[in-house]
Amino acid sequence: MAITYHSTRNSLLQYTASEAILRGISPDGGLFVPSTIPKLSFPLERTAQMTYQELAFLIMKDFLPDFTDNELQDCASVYDTRFDDRKITPLVYKDSIYFLELFHGPTIAFKDMALSILPRLMTTAASKNNVKNEIVILTATSGDTGKAAMVGFADVPQTKIIVFYPKNGVSEIQEKQMLTQQGDNISVVAIDGNFDDAQSKVKEMFADKTIADELEANGMQFSSANSINIGRLIPQIIYYFYAYGQMIQSEAIQSGDLINVTVPTGNFGNMLAAYYAKQMGLPIHKCIVASNENNVLTDFFQTGTYDRNRDFTLTSSPSMDILVSSNLERLLYMLLGEDTQKVKKYMNELSTEGRYQVAKQVMSEATDFYADFATEKEVLEQIKKTYKDTNYIIDPHTAVATVVANKYQDTSGDKIPMLVASTASPYKFPTAVLDAIVPNFKADSLEDSLAELKRNSNIPYPPAIEEALYSPVLHNTVITTEEMPDEVKRILGI
Ligand SMILES: *Cc1c(COP(=O)(O)O)cnc(C)c1O
Repeated sequence: MAITYHSTRNSLLQYTASEAILRGISPDGGLFVPSTIPKLSFPLERTAQMTYQELAFLIMKDFLPDFTDNELQDCASVYDTRFDDRKITPLVYKDSIYFLELFHGPTIAFKDMALSILPRLMTTAASKNNVKNEIVILTATSGDTGKAAMVGFADVPQTKIIVFYPKNGVSEIQEKQMLTQQGDNISVVAIDGNFDDAQSKVKEMFADKTIADELEANGMQFSSANSINIGRLIPQIIYYFYAYGQMIQSEAIQSGDLINVTVPTGNFGNMLAAYYAKQMGLPIHKCIVASNENNVLTDFFQTGTYDRNRDFTLTSSPSMDILVSSNLERLLYMLLGEDTQKVKKYMNELSTEGRYQVAKQVMSEATDFYADFATEKEVLEQIKKTYKDTNYIIDPHTAVATVVANKYQDTSGDKIPMLVASTASPYKFPTAVLDAIVPNFKADSLEDSLAELKRNSNIPYPPAIEEALYSPVLHNTVITTEEMPDEVKRILGI
């Protein structure tokens, strides 16, 4: 039976894959999940011979049955020279860890892996469903999604994109990357809250019938570029298989051998993609969930209680400064035996009380996962140590994952090869990285820091850095979280 998509909170709300991509989020506030997770449609060892585009095509084909082969091949063709490495996601072996570099796209963060293809999936889905409305992408960002989504959607016909980011919650480079973005269909707005505030307001707007009607009357409809959209989640499955193929190729493993995967986690999209890969047949032993000091997920996996009532900490890994991890809802749906009523109950508790507690047994059965977190001090020490031992510079997000991967290996003693998702280029976080590797360095400007980082890494600036440094700032709106709906209407002229 061909896969359909339904809400995590109501299995009767069913859609085709293309409808699910267009809508972004289910009308009842739930997230779309596939009716089943397909098994890999080809022998695992073939991952070692395929190009990224070929693999992308085959994986998407299983999840998106209402797209034609031609459409999917066209979508997959975005994995080309817009990535600065021929391998798209190269694998780098340092200090007994396989770092899967996911930051070779146009904005040098892993969000490019999905956001370069999402606009194609979305416009294809629109024409397939005879949608004549303009698609308005509303996006909350903790720093990296915003820029990657804007680059992906810039000047794409029939779309507009509005990005909200926390004014004091992103790195200087991240902010500059967003504020210099060109494109007639683009708006970026700073808010005086944190990422969770932005994300929950955006979700509220998606569920607001009055705004939906107003948009419809003006020939528009909302969609999402956040990882709540399955059109983002599915492309993230590809690189786990691709990495496995590279590990076979380099004879680190033989086809069928187990690997562990550690993912620096915020909204749980990347980790969930790895878990979906496992369900499809990728031999992953443990999915290791790495958090920073905002360690709400560590507590959840260790105790079964999800509690967002705690201090929000600004860390050196801002893309993971999140207390409400959206995609966990999809995992919960699976852990609870696909019981949509239970998911709905817990999600209601989360929105009214900020916490919920699942039965102890549910978590004791979730043995596919291991969760832990890294303190700011551990992150700094890790960047320093990796650099000292191997001359390889990792960004703070990747360092969080490395710390946790090491903790897992120390406590479990297992020697299974470890894959770490390396989610950002160190150039995106020069201040934090320099604190670790050149502690006495005093920068007068961002340019100074970048130059110093270049001197130490011997890696030329990616084009994204030149662009952020030397392009004019084009946006400067700052508002309160409450003003977000009015700002959206103002931007859309409705
Ligand atoms: C978004 C992001 C993460 C977190 O990924 P999720 O899918 O939200 O868990 C980690 N690192 C970087 C650099 C990111 O941009």
